[in-house]
Amino acid sequence: MNAETRSDLSGLRIHVTGIVQGVGFRPFVYGLAYRHHLTGWVRNSSSGVDIEVDGPAIALSDFARDLRAELPPLARIDQWEATGRPPEGFTTFTILESKSEAGAFQPISPDMATCDDCLRELFDPTDRRYRYPFINCTNCGPRYTIIHDIPYDRPLTTMARFPLCGDCATEYRDPLDRRFHAQPVACPTCGPRLWFEVSGSPTDPPVRDEEALQATRRYLRDSRIVAVKGLGGFHLACDASNPTAVGQLRQRKLRVDKPFAVMLPDIEAVRRHCYAGAAEEELLLSRARPIVLLARRPESTIAREMAPAQNLIGVMLPYTPLHYLLLERETGFPEALVMTSGNLSEEPIAYTNDEARERLAALADGLLLHDRDIHTRCDDSVMRVLTRQAGPERVIPVRRSRGYAPFPVRLPWPTSPILAAGGELKNVFCLVRDDYAFLSHHIGDMENYETLRSFEEGVGHLERLFRIRPTMFAADMHPDYMASRYARERAERESLPLVEVQHHHAHIAAGMAEHSLAGDHPVIGVAFDGTGYGDDGAIWGGEFLIADYAGYDRAAHLRYVTLPGGDRAVRGPWRMALAHLHSAGLPWADDIDPVSFGRELGEERLGVLQSQIEKGFNAPLTSSMGRVFDAAAALAGVRQIVNYEAQAAIEFEVLADRFETDAYEFGYENGLIDPAPLWAALLADRRAGLDIGRIAARFHNGVARMVRDVCFSLRHERGINEVVLSGGVWQNTTMLRQTLTLLEKEGFIVYTHQLVPANDGGLALGQAAVAAFQILMDKRGQTAGGKPQAADGQKHNTSQPN
Ligand SMILES: [Zn+2]
Ligand SMILES: [Zn+2]
Repeated sequence: MNAETRSDLSGLRIHVTGIVQGVGFRPFVYGLAYRHHLTGWVRNSSSGVDIEVDGPAIALSDFARDLRAELPPLARIDQWEATGRPPEGFTTFTILESKSEAGAFQPISPDMATCDDCLRELFDPTDRRYRYPFINCTNCGPRYTIIHDIPYDRPLTTMARFPLCGDCATEYRDPLDRRFHAQPVACPTCGPRLWFEVSGSPTDPPVRDEEALQATRRYLRDSRIVAVKGLGGFHLACDASNPTAVGQLRQRKLRVDKPFAVMLPDIEAVRRHCYAGAAEEELLLSRARPIVLLARRPESTIAREMAPAQNLIGVMLPYTPLHYLLLERETGFPEALVMTSGNLSEEPIAYTNDEARERLAALADGLLLHDRDIHTRCDDSVMRVLTRQAGPERVIPVRRSRGYAPFPVRLPWPTSPILAAGGELKNVFCLVRDDYAFLSHHIGDMENYETLRSFEEGVGHLERLFRIRPTMFAADMHPDYMASRYARERAERESLPLVEVQHHHAHIAAGMAEHSLAGDHPVIGVAFDGTGYGDDGAIWGGEFLIADYAGYDRAAHLRYVTLPGGDRAVRGPWRMALAHLHSAGLPWADDIDPVSFGRELGEERLGVLQSQIEKGFNAPLTSSMGRVFDAAAALAGVRQIVNYEAQAAIEFEVLADRFETDAYEFGYENGLIDPAPLWAALLADRRAGLDIGRIAARFHNGVARMVRDVCFSLRHERGINEVVLSGGVWQNTTMLRQTLTLLEKEGFIVYTHQLVPANDGGLALGQAAVAAFQILMDKRGQTAGGKPQAADGQKHNTSQPN
């Protein structure tokens, strides 16, 4: 350096946006400037981070290169502006105070699993945070769930009530410390504490800290159930290898046979209990730490009662220091723990201590509590991986929540602020600002007051957090969805436009947006799910839409059948099977499983069903593919009644024989897909006593081939080669694998969901994209005009501003 004269120096001004605050970005810049012997400063602004540096030109360019190449693990740069300038004559490198700008905003980091450095300290007897359940640093720990408001600073988090001790304050202020400006930083002296309560009779003084942890472990060892306060809410925990404990939890939670998730201490344990490929292990170990659905090994000691009639179990690894302490290996202590969401049936997950005492005391024998408040409840995320012999593995998001929310998905274009309300089941809403689509955490099924309140609180919170005042609302067309009503009421009250988006159009638009398709040409959208309100008032769900963001043309769909008894037909696949047989002109013979099931319920019930189907009384029309799966499972003898959504289809998929090559055929004419030939063939196989695994396989093969054939015919008619697969049916990996393989063999480009769920959890993104596109076209219309058309033919424009 000393050989250089001032004239060798130049200067550089850098502005970055993205996830650059609360993730150790400034100390990283500081360290980098130090390494390259640069002077200047770094500062958080409300819209990102500003950097000014002086130094030799070559050092400046190395600095700029390393800045992007060596980012801290949680940071993400979305925009990068670097401008050269003359040197300013700085003498040192400093971190300046934050500068706030009114109305500016910042993406916020999701909550992140404990990092390796913190884990080492957690189990190091010489460390001052040895066995401290709330250890964290700039690279790990709670974020989204503890934030009240931005800028992300301690006083605006639930850590505000814990003043830093001298040691923690020193670390917090030292730019070279790995806890520099780590807002949730804490230690046993100054931070949150743990305690244990016996349900219904809290002791005074309470059992605290290590004793509380050991009391919990004793309970778990004794096969009792404990409610454990986690990162985004409570879990109910018990020994997963103990059928009695698992059975008791089921009984108390009123959850008949929906699978529970399990937490295992480490990846070696996962390998012993389940089959996990490279992509699955990577997901399990990722900082988001989702639940990953894995096939159970037959020799696993995890109780079958965890996931009855299924070979898949939801597995996750510890993601907080408390989990690591809770699952610490010890002879006699259960290796696998049930970790299911702390709620009764379908209520939202409990997240405050009072709520847990009120709502979970009847479900759990003890409560492990702490005093770091959760500001936003956030359920565990659920992922699945599609493995194929040919082609790369694909991630299939089933629920995108903790560890992902509120990480934005980028839209293909910037737009004015939008609120998309999402669907009725598995609700997730979406707030858009610029080209960021902020998808909320999982809100849940909007069928009770609790969930609606949670939705409204969530909307209010995220609007504040991201400084978004919607100028347009988007919602599902369904007249009665609670989320749609909310959007409609707000649009009216605030005199703002509302865009009502057809359900399956939203699914396809979500798939397009996720892959950044610009929407300048249409795709073949294959939207298969259980239920969605159609523009003709029927219940859709087996749709081929020639779609772009502007609208869609319903090019083909499953032939309508009745949904006898409405929701009752959804809960009773036997009803659906009989409706399909009737529609196909096949007699209700006594040897058919759903018929004999109906007879057992009583001739009267069967009679009512028949008249519902014939007269259409309390029997709306549906083209649902989900209901075709239900009917097939019922006719194959798998299940006549379901206890949770898609149960029959899930259990049917498990049975499918991978080596079967035959397939049942659908009829297809004039855009109408008719399952009648399929039912006849399935019944014949069943009567001939064909193995149920082969029947299941022939059914799945048949649906996949039908998709290929219809896409093939649509490509021929319309010259479109891109296919988007969306809707909950595509979470069936057997279906997805086969369909992808067949379509790719025919040269189609196929887009599947990898960022948001194919189910209704991804709906809000599609609604937002449709609304954003409309804003874009309105703006262009004012200048140039002309919007891309989806297809020749009749075009439905779902967008109806009021
Ligand atoms: Zn850490
Ligand atoms: Zn401290």
